Amino acid sequence: MFLERAASRSQRKGWVEVICGSMFSGKTEELIRRLRRAEFAKQKVEIFKPGVDTRYDENNVVSHEGTTIRSTPVPSSSNLLLLAGDIEVVGIDEAQFFDDGLPAVCVQLAGQGVRVIIAGLDMDFQGRPFGPMPQLMAMAEFVTKVHAICMRCGELATFSHRTTAHKELVVLGETDTYEPLCRGCFDLAISAQQTANG
Ligand code: ZN
Repeated sequence: MFLERAASRSQRKGWVEVICGSMFSGKTEELIRRLRRAEFAKQKVEIFKPGVDTRYDENNVVSHEGTTIRSTPVPSSSNLLLLAGDIEVVGIDEAQFFDDGLPAVCVQLAGQGVRVIIAGLDMDFQGRPFGPMPQLMAMAEFVTKVHAICMRCGELATFSHRTTAHKELVVLGETDTYEPLCRGCFDLAISAQQTANG
């Protein structure tokens, strides 16, 4: 589906791909797979992530499977335009944490001939569309929704249920903080929490 085209940047048009889904759905693995293929095709690849995500390692995108690829943390989406330079394929991980300027930046990069591949959570822990992801999904040429497995019933999971009582939107965590759930199990879990909270 996603061909690594060899034409020079001046001859080609860019485009935007979005990989979205819940926690533990394999978004970052899919991002890394596409970027590695572009590297095999001898294309210039750069990966950026928001400065807020400092899990594990400052300078690596680290997936849950342990596969890593080098990346650059940036404080704001506007930094991408400065840093993209002559890059042919720009990867963006944890895009939901970027500011609202990210969609316009991605459109501008695509217009300059860049292939932009974005990975991010489509919904927050309450099932609401997350940050700039809705706009990115609307404007992208290609959208891939990947699924985790519901920890309670084994169906496909699309929700990231927070198992702790934090109210903040940004709580980075692993299996002790979030569990992927299907819609039915997510609704039951939210109802149970609301009952418990009175
Ligand atoms: Zn379920």
